[in-house]
Amino acid sequence: MTIKLSRSSKNAEFRSQNALLLAVLESMPQGIAVFDQQLHLQVCNQGFFEALHLPPDDAVDGTRLSDLTRLVSQQQGQWINQSAEQFHRLEAAAQDFIAFSCELIQSSGRVYRVNGRPLVMDGQLAGYVITYADISERRAIQEREQLAQTVFAHTPGGIIVTDDAQRIISANPATSLMSGYSTEEIVGQTIFSLVAADSSLTPTAFEQAIKESGTWNGEINIMRKTGESLAAEIRVNRIDDLNASQSSHYIWILADITERKVAEARMRHIAQSDSLTGLPNRLALQLRLALTLPEARRHEWQVAIMFIDLDRFKNINDTLGHPVGDELLREVASRLSLVVRETDFVARLGGDEFVIVLPAITNPADAATVANKIIGALSSPIVADGHELHTSPSIGISIFPDDGSDGDTVLKNADTAMYHAKSAGRNNYQFYAGEMNKTASERLDIERKLRHAISRNELSLCYQPQFSAVGSQPTGVEALVRWHHPTDGMISPMRFIPIAEETGLIVEIGEWVLRTACHEMRNWIEAGLEPIRVAVNISARQLRRRDFCEVVAGCLAESGLPSELLELEITESAVMENPKEAISILESIGRMGVTLAIDDFGTGYSSLAYLKLFPIDHLKIDRSFVADIEFDLNDRAIAFGTIALAHSLGLNVIAEGVETEDQLDLLRSNGCDEVQGYLFSKPLTSSAAFAFLHARATAG
Ligand code: C2E
Ligand code: CA
Ligand code: CA
Repeated sequence: MTIKLSRSSKNAEFRSQNALLLAVLESMPQGIAVFDQQLHLQVCNQGFFEALHLPPDDAVDGTRLSDLTRLVSQQQGQWINQSAEQFHRLEAAAQDFIAFSCELIQSSGRVYRVNGRPLVMDGQLAGYVITYADISERRAIQEREQLAQTVFAHTPGGIIVTDDAQRIISANPATSLMSGYSTEEIVGQTIFSLVAADSSLTPTAFEQAIKESGTWNGEINIMRKTGESLAAEIRVNRIDDLNASQSSHYIWILADITERKVAEARMRHIAQSDSLTGLPNRLALQLRLALTLPEARRHEWQVAIMFIDLDRFKNINDTLGHPVGDELLREVASRLSLVVRETDFVARLGGDEFVIVLPAITNPADAATVANKIIGALSSPIVADGHELHTSPSIGISIFPDDGSDGDTVLKNADTAMYHAKSAGRNNYQFYAGEMNKTASERLDIERKLRHAISRNELSLCYQPQFSAVGSQPTGVEALVRWHHPTDGMISPMRFIPIAEETGLIVEIGEWVLRTACHEMRNWIEAGLEPIRVAVNISARQLRRRDFCEVVAGCLAESGLPSELLELEITESAVMENPKEAISILESIGRMGVTLAIDDFGTGYSSLAYLKLFPIDHLKIDRSFVADIEFDLNDRAIAFGTIALAHSLGLNVIAEGVETEDQLDLLRSNGCDEVQGYLFSKPLTSSAAFAFLHARATAG
């Protein structure tokens, strides 16, 4: 018995059932066609027409499966994948009423799973059913997953998937190659256990970045199983689960950049060095200036840029040939490198042009000293290829920041100054015009006037009292020299002392100060003042004199001042210039009963080992630290560290430059012994100092 199911069924008995079944068929997602035992179409749904691209008219009741097969195989370009053949095989299977299935792919890319099944009703064969299921989506997902799996397994880059605590969920074979760990070894570990300690990536920094943007890029070092580290570029993306209840995952993509790093370093070296001399080249110079100048600006240092050009080099090159010229340049390069300190920077710009950078000079005169050394170093002949060559430098000097606020400008101005040196007769140095020459001539002027200062009675001493930090009792005075020039007025010791030191005039001036201080204190005591200590500043240059001890002894003897009332202040840098020698001189001084203070402590480079050996009584904390002690934690740490250190060595600490109550409080509460500064008293003239001390003594 066959049931006649048809859209156009006239059979009223079945009409309502028929309608129900048709509705069910239409609601199926697949295309369905039902054939009777003669393989004539009985019923089908809309999906069937769509799957086969048939206009509804082509498949009406009773259409034979073979006709449909013919129609479909004639559809030009509609199917790929030997579809015509598949349709025929389907038809053959239907004729035998056996199950059949295949996949058909349309040229549009849609994929259908076709299933043919015999239709059995009441245990009897009733026809044949064919379904067409669109499996395009599922197939695409499968393919994507397969592709992802292939990429994951075969990509040369490391891929790691982590959970939201950055524990590794999976890692690909490339990760194992890079890290040296098998996948099993790292799964479950946190990713940070793979990151070398020196990397910029820390869990907290990472959290921060990923929270803000959901991604993180950077270069890190991976700690390999072998213990070596490997440079890697990393890109991390957070994958938020669409289903918000799930926590996020992270995909880490790692690229081994070891080779790139090596190549970069090599390129940098090649790009930044001069192949002939091995010195840094112009690019390296520019990079160095870009680093040095801002730092100097921060610290208020000066930087000297010296532009050096060899006189008559072209001549040598032209007459004796390039190989000889090259050898000359190499020798010049090595002599220049020997002249400068390690922190200085020598570059060759090309040809016979060299540049030297002296970072952190305190005074343009330092550059002049180096220039003189260069002239000296190049004055002996250079032998190249059997020729004895004579060359000399013309040197132009510019000073940052006075002669330019950026690298290019100071370099250009040094170059200009070099041309002045050439026109001034070669084998000499010139500072950059204008400003520099003005300062240089000013210095000359001071030097000239200073030579007569003593004989013309222009010098005098001021005294600044020092106090006990606790009881505010005066403990001593520091003698400070003053120069009153008849026409220029007061000239600050900050200006003339450095010049006096360079020219050696300080020896004579220093002796005058020492003698005067001893005499004046002796006079005060005779006039009724309680004996009190007087501190005298001694410069490095004085300390180096072989007769220094005799000078001190002489001043004491002449004045009759008890030696224990004299203290010498010597700067930290002066004793560190030649610590061994300083120890022996200071020991002789100490044996006389004279006390010693280390001045400007904290500004130089003291070695603790030496500090212990010096027979000193006081450390003076430099006023630059005191000035910032309230606000700069660094300076505060240095100041308080100094106090602790001094006490552990049995020394007294004097803080100088105390200007505020707050500074005093901080110093006092940290055990500082003595203080000196504007808060208590400015330096006073001799008579004012006497009156001040006298009044204090009678008041106390
Ligand atoms: P110094 O030995 O560190 O002397 C302390 C300087 O700090 C003095 O400057 C003093 O006036 C100043 N000063 C004192 N209290 C304060 C304060 O509360 N705030 C500030 N801002 N400054 C304060 P002065 O007299 O201008 O001397 C400057 C430098 O000149 C001295 O520094 C010392 O290095 C040198 N000097 C002065 N007299 C002599 C001397 O007779 N011989 C030698 N070799 N050098 C001397
Ligand atoms: Ca001093
Ligand atoms: Ca000082």
